[in-house]
Amino acid sequence: MDGLATLFQRRANQAGLELAGDQIEKFLLFLQALKEWNRKFNLTAINDEEEILVKHFIDSLSCFLGVPSKNYQRIRKIIDVGSGAGFPGIPLKIYQPRFGLTLLEATRKKVEFMGYVSRKLGFKSSVEVIHGRAEEYGRNGDYREKYDLAVSRAVSDLAVLAEYCLPFVKIGGTFISQKGRQVTGEIQKAAKAIEILGGRVNKVIPYKLILRERELERTLVVVDKVERTPDDYPRRPGVVVKRPIS
Ligand code: SAM
Repeated sequence: MDGLATLFQRRANQAGLELAGDQIEKFLLFLQALKEWNRKFNLTAINDEEEILVKHFIDSLSCFLGVPSKNYQRIRKIIDVGSGAGFPGIPLKIYQPRFGLTLLEATRKKVEFMGYVSRKLGFKSSVEVIHGRAEEYGRNGDYREKYDLAVSRAVSDLAVLAEYCLPFVKIGGTFISQKGRQVTGEIQKAAKAIEILGGRVNKVIPYKLILRERELERTLVVVDKVERTPDDYPRRPGVVVKRPIS
């Protein structure tokens, strides 16, 4: 475990992140739980420890590169849409415990796993794990336009994601989509959806992960919420994916 802690600290430092001892401990507990549950349920395709540290933990923390520094102190509430086994939401919460976090996920087993990890890491009421679809919660008044930041990784194309995520964000807040290397075409295709849903692309930030001396290229798409999302959105489950706004 010590070797893993040192490796994680090194990889985090390479990514410009400083982690305290108790944070590293929490990340390693999370890693342990992920491996245990993954033996029984298919939570994530990644099982190798170094890959989990880099491709899941450090990649998730890279979301903070996208938060405009003037907005950082103002963030109180974050929602992670389609968080799967907790990415990027749980790493963000370990790194910055002051945020309230909602983890929204459509698959029950993954919701159970995130509930288990939240209890194990002592998050208590500052983390809410909810089971359901973004299209439904985005219409619920307790969640709609209540968040300073919505994040999402590997859930769908940007046009679909915008309809899942922007309804949750308050005006003045931010939606960050974590993507792979090629995003220009996807952003162009999503331009109309983002505008209709009350967003405006603020910036696109390329970044790199280092895995065994190999560089992996990733991108953040940062969207500001500038206007209210019209009441017609999000549309019903199924429709959003079948007919993305274009
Ligand atoms: N964000 C995690 C990650 O990066 O490891 C999980 C990615 S996984 C490929 C996509 C997840 O999004 C799945 O767990 C799926 O159940 C969830 N999902 C897809 N559409 C959703 C929706 N409309 N509402 C809520 N969750 C959704």
